[in-house]
Amino acid sequence: MLNIALFGPPGAGKGTQSESLIAKYGLLYISTGDILRKEIASGSELGKKINAITSEGHLVSDELIMSIIRKTIETNPHVEGILFDGFPRNISQAKLLENLMEELGTPFTGVLSLEVPREELITRLINRGKVSGRSDDKEDVILERLKEYEEKTLPVAEYFSKKGNFYPVKGVGSLEEIFDRLVAEIEKHRR
Ligand code: ADP
Repeated sequence: MLNIALFGPPGAGKGTQSESLIAKYGLLYISTGDILRKEIASGSELGKKINAITSEGHLVSDELIMSIIRKTIETNPHVEGILFDGFPRNISQAKLLENLMEELGTPFTGVLSLEVPREELITRLINRGKVSGRSDDKEDVILERLKEYEEKTLPVAEYFSKKGNFYPVKGVGSLEEIFDRLVAEIEKHRR
């Protein structure tokens, strides 16, 4: 089993690289951001509540995140492993992830981190905003998301570094180059 979390700031390229990784390794893809956006698009009451939070660039509750993750795993029981994108996003979620892996009786391979300079992230997100139609890809919200990332999500890097399963990868270059770097890391650490 290969269970990995793809880590990195907004705009690091997690969604793009995830597509190639799940194709190569046959993993169940759990993007918390994608699932939340689907809920918003459904127009449900829950979706409206989520939208009020995400369009400000803030994080939704850990309870909601865990419930969508559990639901996704329950509906996809036979998989080669899981790729988490956008999770864990704070220390509490990091611990919840470890508990979940233990409960499922499957090893956690580690965190692959896409490292991209801040200036490059802002440029990428502003450009994406022109085509994505995402309500959070606007400059003021982008800056708020980066602030949330720096305050709440970056400590997750330190948490897993101390445990020895945090693997940084240079996230600048061609898509193929970055993909090859990710695969090389996975092959080094998979059990
Ligand atoms: P990005 O990495 O580009 O910011 P995502 O698609 O991963 O975007 O997430 C979009 C938004 O969804 C986040 O800004 C946040 O509001 C919410 N979100 C996604 N994943 C989580 C999570 N694990 N915990 C809390 N909020 C989340």
